[in-house]
Amino acid sequence: MLNDKNFLRSIKYNLLDSDSLKHTNSTCPSCSSLLTYSQVLTHSLPLAASHVGPFDEFGWSVGECKDCRAEFLVDVINPDFSEFISGARKTRFILEDGASEADLQFVARSVKLTNSLDKNFDMNKRSYAYDYEGQSLYECGNCSVSLDQEVYGALLSVFERLRDGSYNYLEWSMKGGGHDPEYIISRLPVVCGCGASLVAYVGKPYSHDHNFAASEFSILNVVGSKKLPDTMRPGVYSKNQVMEWLYKLLPRWTVLFDTIYLMVPFVGHLYMKPEQIVGVWEALISRVDPKKVRLVTKKDQINIFKKAYHEHYQVDYSQLEKLKLSSELVNGTVTNSKFHAKVYAASSSFGCEVYSGSANLLIGPSKEVMHFSEIGLSDFEECFLKPLGVSAVVPDQAQVKYSFLLDVENNFSALHPRSTIYSKNYYDLIMHDALPSNI
Ligand SMILES: [Zn+2]
Ligand SMILES: [Zn+2]
Repeated sequence: MLNDKNFLRSIKYNLLDSDSLKHTNSTCPSCSSLLTYSQVLTHSLPLAASHVGPFDEFGWSVGECKDCRAEFLVDVINPDFSEFISGARKTRFILEDGASEADLQFVARSVKLTNSLDKNFDMNKRSYAYDYEGQSLYECGNCSVSLDQEVYGALLSVFERLRDGSYNYLEWSMKGGGHDPEYIISRLPVVCGCGASLVAYVGKPYSHDHNFAASEFSILNVVGSKKLPDTMRPGVYSKNQVMEWLYKLLPRWTVLFDTIYLMVPFVGHLYMKPEQIVGVWEALISRVDPKKVRLVTKKDQINIFKKAYHEHYQVDYSQLEKLKLSSELVNGTVTNSKFHAKVYAASSSFGCEVYSGSANLLIGPSKEVMHFSEIGLSDFEECFLKPLGVSAVVPDQAQVKYSFLLDVENNFSALHPRSTIYSKNYYDLIMHDALPSNI
């Protein structure tokens, strides 16, 4: 009975494995407009001292384009539970097993979707993975001891509650609540071994997927730590160290500053393996909001990246572009072939942080010289942007953005009045531990 097809079909809904849900982008075979469809598999569940399932069936979803009304088929597993998320509507489905002769003829003569790519290829996914094991970006302002590990310990002690708080908001918002926040931020009091009291702020982009680790929260700032120019002293460092610090700076810059400038002649080099070149780009792309970044590089760097992407993933990068999965950051790159300076910087009206020297965006043990400095906006524009002919990016202030501050004080609840922090208050909160006065 447990293997009876009709029985399995009748309980198929209960066998669906939500972890297997996948979204695929494709284009209408007639008008080329973008559409997305879902597929889900089943898994095995215990039943009556035995197991039932998995029960996956091959078949076809019949869709109609929302733009041009063209009809098409898509090959899917479990067409009975496959849906069009956008761009088309499902008119019916056909299961291969038990299909009528008329249905099989219909399948044979219909147009099928071919130009498809799993949405996992979306290059605009964000991650704030932070290397807590690496050389500390933050040191105690009193005794100079490294703090990154201390902060990680404090984060781990509240991590489950923090993730649950974010997940509870997701559940609430799915029932018709508000729009998504930008970030989940937490305030972590830390006491240094020397007795100094410090306050760390950590954050990560908010996502519906809550299957993440504590190390995906980046330190955004530690109030009471040494100033960053005193920690990242001018000197000679390996390329690996330069990149590690840059990756730690990018999330801080994305949350706190209006614009990030990455002005660098080379991203990867010809002798790096394709997966390393792609890795450098992906590590960069995932840590920044592309709308805030101006990337300036030599023209051939983009082509080298696209070629490496193809070699690594066996997918043509133009396919990503067509299916709106390509990186907004790469698409918005400004090319300039007449410069040798390497400048990584964040700017806002309140000031700029500039990390500059000889290091391209490359990994490896060889040594580079780097400086980290804090300067005013007008000096930054005059001394760094103007000589390179780079225009300043006007910050996007059209949309009201906000984040959640989840911590012990509000019991990690996003629905507490103290939890909502608007973007205009990020800087005072995270740099000076000052909660907005309207709370
Ligand atoms: Zn169409
Ligand atoms: Zn200390």
